[in-house]
Amino acid sequence: MILETEIKFLSGIGPKRAEILKKELGISTFKDMLYTFPYRYIDRTKFYKITEITEDLPYIQFKGKIIRFETPRNKRMAAYAADDSGNEIQLVFFKGIKWIVNKFKANTEYVFFGKPNVFNGKINIIHPEIETVSDENSKINSNIQAVYSSTERLRDNFLGTKAFNRFQSNLLTIAYHKIDETLPEYIISQYKLIALKDALLNIHFPQSPELLQRAEYRLKFEELFYIQLSLLSQRLNRLQKSNGFVFSKIGDNFNNFYNNNLGFELTNAQKRVIKEIRNDFKSGKQMNRLLQGDVGSGKTLVALICMLIAIDNGFQTCIMAPTEILANQHYQTVNDFLNGIDIEVRLLTGSTKKSERKLLDDDLMSGKINILIGTHALIEDTVQFHNLGFVVIDEQHRFGVEQRAKLRSKNRIAPHVLVMTATPIPRTLSMTLYGDLDISIIDELPPGRKNVKTFHLLENRRLQLFGFMRKQIMAGRQIYVVYPLIRESEKMDYKNLEDGYFAITQAFPAPEYVTCVVHGKMKAAEKDFAMNYFASGKAHILVATSVIEVGVNVPNASIMVIESAERFGLSQLHQLRGRVGRGAEQSYCFLMSDVKLTTEARKRLQLMVRTNNGFEIAEEDLKLRGPGDIEGTQQSGLPFNLKISNLAKDGKLLGYVRNIASAILNEDNLLELKKNSLLRKILDKDFKKTIDYSDIS
Ligand code: ADP
Ligand code: MG
Repeated sequence: MILETEIKFLSGIGPKRAEILKKELGISTFKDMLYTFPYRYIDRTKFYKITEITEDLPYIQFKGKIIRFETPRNKRMAAYAADDSGNEIQLVFFKGIKWIVNKFKANTEYVFFGKPNVFNGKINIIHPEIETVSDENSKINSNIQAVYSSTERLRDNFLGTKAFNRFQSNLLTIAYHKIDETLPEYIISQYKLIALKDALLNIHFPQSPELLQRAEYRLKFEELFYIQLSLLSQRLNRLQKSNGFVFSKIGDNFNNFYNNNLGFELTNAQKRVIKEIRNDFKSGKQMNRLLQGDVGSGKTLVALICMLIAIDNGFQTCIMAPTEILANQHYQTVNDFLNGIDIEVRLLTGSTKKSERKLLDDDLMSGKINILIGTHALIEDTVQFHNLGFVVIDEQHRFGVEQRAKLRSKNRIAPHVLVMTATPIPRTLSMTLYGDLDISIIDELPPGRKNVKTFHLLENRRLQLFGFMRKQIMAGRQIYVVYPLIRESEKMDYKNLEDGYFAITQAFPAPEYVTCVVHGKMKAAEKDFAMNYFASGKAHILVATSVIEVGVNVPNASIMVIESAERFGLSQLHQLRGRVGRGAEQSYCFLMSDVKLTTEARKRLQLMVRTNNGFEIAEEDLKLRGPGDIEGTQQSGLPFNLKISNLAKDGKLLGYVRNIASAILNEDNLLELKKNSLLRKILDKDFKKTIDYSDIS
């Protein structure tokens, strides 16, 4: 109860600061304050010698005496401190100068504490905290000092780290004994966790490095555990509620295709995934499965094989793709694959003519059509199936939640759903984002693929690059040149693209070379025209914005040039690179960038050069940018606000607690056992509002 108290009542805060805390950090109760965790710690047991202090050290402390104050100039005062060895360091003050000069005496030993900087080639510390040596011993009740993240507004209102240390100390003094345990006793003892109140005490005031570690562990454990428990119990719920069609038999279509049309051996990963899907088909429960696999790993083929199973069991199927180009391509691919097999495949997009549409509607209703391939047009209410049993959704991150839900409602029992994505998501993230879906992964490419050779080039290599491009064109290859398109600066991006297009047509003049252009501002028909012009081999070069990112297949294109590559996300670069390397020829990807790059940008480009593995790239992306920025999660965002865990670092723990949560639910589906009553209570209280992810696909 005490933890629900408004924060303004905590001693030292009051209404004005309470408002600032609320605005800046969302803290409105005692509990919010207690769950505002430090972002790092300083070891206050170590004292540096002045000669050891360098600018790249984080916060440090040293013991010494102030040897002189300089006369303030331009509201800036320098003072000098020296330690036993006689070495000096500059201290700089901009505020409260008078107070400082009065308060601190020369020739008294103090503890100085702060972050070293460099100015004019000299090390200094701006506004160090200064304590008398005896203060230092008595006041700090932990040698590992918590540091809280701050904002300028907080600092201006004296709500920096020191203030937080004080608030947390006041708070724990009155509340420590009243903090209720949030995990059942049996979990705490079985997994050797420390009590919640001790975890909270030690996260703010670590009594030892070991206790700090145990405190972090306990809090992360709990945070991830409840998320997984909530997701898994939603999943159970869905499975209990939703019956699914049973596809028990393997029939002629499947066998014919497998024996006569499939000209190659499936990869082990493909076989494994097909088995997983078949088990779902037989289970009597509706399937909701996410299929992840790198571009070209053979997802479409897996989907097709499973569609044949559905058809063999008397059901219709459909594939929904995010663009017309992609739908066309799927239509082409599926028709080619099914050559000689008696299966009716039709295409439905925005461009389908009215006259054709009537016939299509009839054939769909009568059940004559076995496979319908299309775009969003499939979702329209007027599209009615005779007996839709299996839905495949390609490139899922392009579709909204409601759109997917609509597809599910096209039969009296929800059809099985397979969502395919070529944007690999790190495991930890998919367990959290899609925690209640089943996940299949194709982590193996068909044999014989040549890796795309990737290079990072600066502007000074452009002439060489153009020379190489000419050679490739002469050898019959085609080339993509891609410009970034970032929404906020669309105008500028558009200009970049126009300039780039102009430069390319100068360097590759007509009629010898044919160049076409595709960008987001063109009408769909114009886009399709240009894409088809390129796809049919009539153009040598396609200059484009990232609209080509999704799915186009031009096997003869062997070079991908990405301009201002530093402005793309890693997954996006990977997707773009996946456009080449689809034919028999060796393919190349050139990442063009500015000379000036941030360290992070340089690392990202180096990673692209080093690896072709989408999952590895996704993992690194997660580490470099944090989970909020990962492609495909931007729109949806993380459904959970993680206070202490980090999906990039705590993947192992996440898997561990997921298993624990799963075992608990296995034994006690609805958490009705007495020992689980606390779990039930907390799920109901804190996880009611989370999105039901079982409805997204
Ligand atoms: P994805 O949809 O994952 O991007 P596709 O299913 O389009 O991949 O497959 C890419 C290409 O590889 C297609 O031309 C497909 O026919 C071919 N392919 C798929 N599986 C295999 C396999 N096991 N062996 C050889 N080629 C394959
Ligand atoms: Mg594909």
